[in-house]
Amino acid sequence: MRKVVLVTGGGRGIGAATCVLAAQKGWDVAVNYAANAEAAQQVVKQIQATGARAIAVQADVADEAQVLAMFKRVKAELGPMQGLVNNAGVIDVYARLDEMSMARWRRMFDINVLGSMLCAREAILQMSTKHGGQGGSIVNLSSAASRLGAASQYLDYAAAKGAIDSFTLGLAKEVAGEGIRVNAIRPGLIDTEIHASGGLPNRVKDLEHLVPAKRGGTAMEVAQAIVWLLSEDASYTTMSLIDVSGAR
Ligand code: NAP
Repeated sequence: MRKVVLVTGGGRGIGAATCVLAAQKGWDVAVNYAANAEAAQQVVKQIQATGARAIAVQADVADEAQVLAMFKRVKAELGPMQGLVNNAGVIDVYARLDEMSMARWRRMFDINVLGSMLCAREAILQMSTKHGGQGGSIVNLSSAASRLGAASQYLDYAAAKGAIDSFTLGLAKEVAGEGIRVNAIRPGLIDTEIHASGGLPNRVKDLEHLVPAKRGGTAMEVAQAIVWLLSEDASYTTMSLIDVSGAR
């Protein structure tokens, strides 16, 4: 039987690659997006072309009411989920701490941290054997920034991803006896539009000389690790923080 996965921020970048690959590997997919409905619809079309079921679902992961409505809709239209990829995430422009505002930090933590915790909470209510579910797999998107620190770039983002690492370790232990695995991927420099959203569209090319592998990674290279963690091939892998970073 096909399983159901929700990918937050599934319309573009790493999320979109994850949605398409998951569908090829036997998942039905809920493609969440915040604002870009067209991109999410394109991903849905690609998935449906493979014969899998897919829906696009708008929700700001930092908004509790929207997240609750999203989980309700996914369950009603696709059935209870066995996979969650907490992929939605944002950066901001380069700045030092002494130049940053509280509003910036709130957005950074609301979307990157609280959004992931909120979606994980709702997923556990569907997946946990304690709640009558069949178990599942949660994959959080952290970042190599959580161990590099991103000094003079965006250490607020790095700190938010550090919180994702701790959250992953704790939650994995909390639900390991309830059929749920929880892991995180820490991508390095990956070629997506996120860098343009921070005002640096050429960031991957500009920084790739700092990567020991001497190149940026692709969204699909990250998706491969995410979809493996979702799968039964990773049945004993939980509480892992996996670097997909070309040794950065
Ligand atoms: P991206 O290309 O900028 O795509 C971000 C996706 O997240 C979009 O689909 C966007 O939706 C969605 N999103 C943003 N805010 C949201 C919100 N509040 N609610 C719901 N969805 C929201 O980013 P990416 O590079 O693929 O990054 C994906 C994840 O990997 C992020 O968590 C990021 O921090 C992490 N990561 C990326 C890199 C990298 O180098 N690219 C490195 C390390 C970690 P819309 O399409 O509707 O705007």
